Amino acid sequence: MEISALYEIYKKHPVVTTDSRVCPHDSIFFALKGERFNGNQFAESAIEKGCAYAVVDEWENDKPENPRVIVVENVLETLQKLANFHRKKLKITIVGITGTNGKTTTKELIATILSKEFKVAFTQGNFNNHIGVPLTLLSINKSHEIGVIEMGANHPGEIRELCEIAEPNIGLITNIGKAHIEGFGSLENVIKTKCELYDFIREHEGKVFVNKDNSTLSEKSEGMDRILYGRDNPGLFVSGTLSAETPFLHFDWNFFEHPHRVKTHLVGEYNLDNALAAAAIGKYFGINAELISSALEAYEPKNNRSQFERTQHNDLIIDAYNANPTSMKAMLEFFSKIKSDLPKAVILGEMKELGPIAEVEHRKMLDYLHGQSFDKIYLVGSVFTDGVTGSITMKNTFVFERVEQLIEELERHPLAGYYVLLKGSHSVQLEKVIPFL
Ligand code: ATP
Ligand code: MG
Repeated sequence: MEISALYEIYKKHPVVTTDSRVCPHDSIFFALKGERFNGNQFAESAIEKGCAYAVVDEWENDKPENPRVIVVENVLETLQKLANFHRKKLKITIVGITGTNGKTTTKELIATILSKEFKVAFTQGNFNNHIGVPLTLLSINKSHEIGVIEMGANHPGEIRELCEIAEPNIGLITNIGKAHIEGFGSLENVIKTKCELYDFIREHEGKVFVNKDNSTLSEKSEGMDRILYGRDNPGLFVSGTLSAETPFLHFDWNFFEHPHRVKTHLVGEYNLDNALAAAAIGKYFGINAELISSALEAYEPKNNRSQFERTQHNDLIIDAYNANPTSMKAMLEFFSKIKSDLPKAVILGEMKELGPIAEVEHRKMLDYLHGQSFDKIYLVGSVFTDGVTGSITMKNTFVFERVEQLIEELERHPLAGYYVLLKGSHSVQLEKVIPFL
């Protein structure tokens, strides 16, 4: 079936699902193949459950008896093409966001700010890949005025592909660091891949928002139609400076002309860059500064990202959503700077997906810890028990392969009266420790 014909069907049934357990009435089911499931097997049941159509790519014959089954060559490609076809029809501005760290936080902040004055469609959760991006686009309708789309990548070429689907007019790379080296091969490839967003925007004469403090991004965006933001530099479109040393991010922005004080619920100094990016985009779209500040203040982080929690026994900084060398370093530096009378404990999970640099990066992290004076250090992950154990000679350091073993230790020797940082890759599941703190 031609994409234009499928688009006519989508116009009448503009809700799309890829999960046969969630089949809204009158929606279209796209039978994707995953590692564990083949959506084609659920196409008929999706129709029985209420979907108006099912798009499949494995069927006994090309002309199914059921007119509600649409057979295509490749369901994923069809979904992406349909999303792009739809995007082209939408006359709205799309803000594309990529980067190593802070994409979701920045996306949420931008969406919160822009929603003050516009009807905004934006990526739900972390749905930022070759499936999430088309689904987000297909959730945009005529009533929306701006789309904010997160784009994630773990191998070269991926951002280019996502740009070709979403066709962003405005681009933001939050930062660039060492992550997913397993898939990228090298930091150079990370830089090249993230900058595919700049390449696309340059070719299509769009605009980029650039953190002036990031020399790589400043250099890569030179000559582009760009708007600069950054720290402690009142000459920029948006500038901000930290205003208090609390676990929560407090800052002033555009502090020389009209200082706006913002007290956020985000933990971690690095969130200043995310907040300034969002403020710059808000200002560009004409949102007034008070509204921008109040939106930033109201935002509550989710999913164990940059959160602060006071339990009966301890003060916790919970950042167990993900970890890579860049975000680990940023968080450890921040945590070591926090002024507190409480002794400090760090519970750190392995940083995953680092491929060949895993051992050296964990060693660097241990060297950094060595130079700090944390009162207790708990390390979780096989990279510590099998790989870099030899270098763990620090006092008060406890090493576990799995999080369950750490929980047993905390049951035997509870932590109380500590300032505790939890940070690690998602799959280490450090959040399981929270009830024991
Ligand atoms: P993912 O690749 O999983 O989609 P993401 O880029 O969307 O991640 P967030 O989910 O916003 O990033 O944040 C995840 C973690 O990254 C945070 O909890 C924090 O530890 C770290 N982080 C966020 N922003 C920054 C930043 N600007 N610099 C360094 N680290 C950051
Ligand atoms: Mg994300």
